[in-house]
Amino acid sequence: MNSEEFRKAAHSAVDEIIDYFDTVQDRRVVSNVEPGYLRKLLPPAPPVEGEKWEDIQKDIEAKIMPGLTHWQSPNFMAFYPANTTYPSMLGELYSAAFTAPAFNWLCSPAVTELETIVLDWLAHILHLPDCFLSEGKGGGVIQGSASEAIVTVMVAARERYLNQACEGLEGKEREEKMNCTRGRLIALGSEQSHSSTAKAALIAGVRYKSIPTRMEDGLALTGDGLRMALDEYARDGLEPFYLTTTLGTTGTCATDQFYEIAETLRKAHVSTRIWVHVDAVYAGAALVLDEYQHIADQFAAFDSFNINMHKWLLTNFDASCLYVRTRADLTSALSITPSYLRNPFSDSGLVTDYRDWQIPLGRRFRALKIWFVLRSYGVNGLKAHIRKHIVMGEKFAAWVRERDDLWEIVTPPAFALTVITIALPARSKGTLPDGMTEPRVTDGVATSNTLPSTSEENRDRTNALTKKIYESINAAGEIFLTSSVVKGIYSIRIVSANEKADEAHLRRAFEILVDTAEMVISESKA
Ligand code: PLP
Repeated sequence: MNSEEFRKAAHSAVDEIIDYFDTVQDRRVVSNVEPGYLRKLLPPAPPVEGEKWEDIQKDIEAKIMPGLTHWQSPNFMAFYPANTTYPSMLGELYSAAFTAPAFNWLCSPAVTELETIVLDWLAHILHLPDCFLSEGKGGGVIQGSASEAIVTVMVAARERYLNQACEGLEGKEREEKMNCTRGRLIALGSEQSHSSTAKAALIAGVRYKSIPTRMEDGLALTGDGLRMALDEYARDGLEPFYLTTTLGTTGTCATDQFYEIAETLRKAHVSTRIWVHVDAVYAGAALVLDEYQHIADQFAAFDSFNINMHKWLLTNFDASCLYVRTRADLTSALSITPSYLRNPFSDSGLVTDYRDWQIPLGRRFRALKIWFVLRSYGVNGLKAHIRKHIVMGEKFAAWVRERDDLWEIVTPPAFALTVITIALPARSKGTLPDGMTEPRVTDGVATSNTLPSTSEENRDRTNALTKKIYESINAAGEIFLTSSVVKGIYSIRIVSANEKADEAHLRRAFEILVDTAEMVISESKA
């Protein structure tokens, strides 16, 4: 493809992308192709002679589109959103054009320097404590995913712990102590932590333990829960070196009790030994709002923080922003410098080489799209985007409460996510059933569940009904939701938080929930 051909092809592709965005809400949101559909549509081998762009482009609509689930549709209310926007796409386009696997500063100084600057900007916007800024000993780095970020910090935590444990020892004595300590190391998360922490432990070669959470604590990890777990591990001769805490768990968007956790670690005299990571991949976006700043203030006690801008912050995948309070912890654990990677700038110590802050060597120019997004929306644009969805989530929960003859809230709206299940039988509208509690509000976030305790028989029935409703809704394909099992309660998660989502879309989703529930319940009685 020459320059003129590219100009024509790119214009045509951009036109098609704009049309796609303008009409995406009219498409069936979840793909319903059969496994292996694409192999039947494509030839068994690539063409021997190159094809014209016009012919290639046609296959986007004909062959790829049927197999796409439309995450950008305002009717996508499943998992967590994966926002993309035009400014972000432009960043990707330039990045693809410049393609520079800029592992060292010298490989493209702008790639490194823009990354440091935009991550400092983002830290300010999120009200992160100063210890995470590059001006001090900390700083941010863009990774491909939260899972990658967690493996990276877990390795740094392991090395920091081992070095502390073996301080002053040398030679064989040091080696023996290292090996012996390694075998006792455990990484921790809560029962609600994302599976990426367990996976990171697997990769880092350490054991993993999850600390139980309780419904009455809103499924948050609490100081007491952590203290009891630490006591138990000490009795078993285990050595915790790392803990994932979460702002916005995957299942219900629960928020751990950060202050209590920090206090528990301080009282146990392990705050400098156990590395605490804050997994804020989705809900961290809410920290742009001043009313959530008090949550971020608590992170000064912790070692690292991660937010995926590619979830709720208008930037396309991948833009996982990891911050550490002591960058030397990363570089001393991960820096290996063969002669071909040496250069005077790196040797001078005056530049950042992000290859030492991550697992891969090469890296993409991801800062560009973040820069475009931050400049195009401005801080106020980001705030308006997040606030809109939080308000919508509150309205959704209010509609559910109005239909408490049909639906119950398992966990109240948290960062635009509400988790519901079908109401127990014989429930009269407007009355609180036995065991139902008002939501506990901590740090401005409603955390406790409002669900009544119930007999096993009733629960089996409501679980089966909820599952049937959920499956019917997704099979119909107008909206896409995900389910979750919360402490034995089969639940439906509704999170409407992509850029195109308005109240009207959410209201329609609620109508679908109500209509489908009524249909499934009446069928179950027939
Ligand atoms: N942490 C939480 C709370 C998540 O919800 C997810 C995924 O949705 C992850 C971590 C993993 O994210 P990634 O796909 O970036 O590895």
